[in-house]
Amino acid sequence: MDLQDFDRTHLWHPYASLPPTYDNLIITHADGVRLYTHDNHTLIDGMSSWWASIHGYNHPRLNHAISKQLDNMSHVMFGGLTHLPALALGERLLGITPKNLTKIFYADSGSVAVEIALKMALQYQLARGFAHKNTFASTHSGYHGDTWHAMSVCDPINSMHTLYGNKLPTQYFLPAPPMGFDTPLDDDTRLSMDRFFGQYHNKLAGFIIEPIVQGAGGMRFYSPQYLHHLHALCQYYDVLLICDEIATGFGRTGQMFGVNHAGICPDIMTLGKALTGGYMSFGAVMTTNRLADSIHNSPYPALMHGPTFMGNPLACSVACASIDLVLENDIPYLAKLMQSKLSHHLHQLQNWQEVADVRFLGAIGVIEMKQPIDMPRFQGLLTKYGIWVRPFGKLVYLMPPIVMSDDDLAKLCGGLVQLLKAYFKDR
Ligand SMILES: *Cc1c(COP(=O)(O)O)cnc(C)c1O
Repeated sequence: MDLQDFDRTHLWHPYASLPPTYDNLIITHADGVRLYTHDNHTLIDGMSSWWASIHGYNHPRLNHAISKQLDNMSHVMFGGLTHLPALALGERLLGITPKNLTKIFYADSGSVAVEIALKMALQYQLARGFAHKNTFASTHSGYHGDTWHAMSVCDPINSMHTLYGNKLPTQYFLPAPPMGFDTPLDDDTRLSMDRFFGQYHNKLAGFIIEPIVQGAGGMRFYSPQYLHHLHALCQYYDVLLICDEIATGFGRTGQMFGVNHAGICPDIMTLGKALTGGYMSFGAVMTTNRLADSIHNSPYPALMHGPTFMGNPLACSVACASIDLVLENDIPYLAKLMQSKLSHHLHQLQNWQEVADVRFLGAIGVIEMKQPIDMPRFQGLLTKYGIWVRPFGKLVYLMPPIVMSDDDLAKLCGGLVQLLKAYFKDR
């Protein structure tokens, strides 16, 4: 069987056509911060497999956690049963998240965690007799996943809304938060937020937002002051604040969670991606006593969700080991340090005529081009420069494994600069 041929003929890849417009690289193994291709290329990883592999690949501690758990049980149902890995993970999550978040629902992926968060918010408002508060709000340029209701709160223009006609539920949207971590909240923005809540609060069960960094919706950083004000409005109008930390959680932005930049406690928090150190699909939804008690004291006290693989012991075990590593290695601090290193290597790109903007926050570096990247051309250059980077649209961005050494980071950034030089030269 020709591997490339089979892939091209039979396998869909994320957000791609089948057959695809360019070949996927065949990876045989990954170790530390490197991916290895079947034709003997070594690539330094600039993506952490979409925010997830914060400790690098094939990590002995994470491997050990899974194989040890495998000897006990890989899975048992969570209905009517519980187990040590789920309990141990719960204890760790309570230790690192905002104090008011005390109740945990284990989900099987990020998108599913978002669905559960939305259900929780609806059940909470219903429980309190506010059946009219049954819609959600968000901002433009957000991303919250690919399942149905998660899609409905993604950016209404650039995401997949239009593709499915009018079948998605209609939600309410504020303009995207003004760009810039250090941009103070201006009066116009504050006023438009105030008006929005004044107008719609009666219809809103919750407001969902990615704290500080909007990821897949545009790699935009915004001010903690914005989040702070949003939190105040949500509290005042009894709209639940749902902070989607699936991308920002576990240190990526230089704090353990995005909400920590603003010092706020959301009503609901969703976790995923780096939760298992990038080892397997898993998610968690955390909420408050107040919300859980309201649902509990209603005529319908059960939270109506229960995936088959809820609380999967392998996932819980590797998540425990990953959180231990986050704390031992002070991953948030390492991410904070990486910001100046990324900037040191890449700020020169600001002066290129093809580049619109360059920005950095924690272990995230973003180069926004003036034109969308031609993916087949870009992909074709990766093995030559020995790096793994996957742009989308006009955005070329790096979010390396946070443990990456200075040497490897210099190679990754240097490789990217050289690749972009070649990309723009023979166009
Ligand atoms: C990736 C992501 C999701 C979806 O998670 P999946 O595990 O891919 O379903 C939701 N919200 C945010 C902020 C994300 O970055």
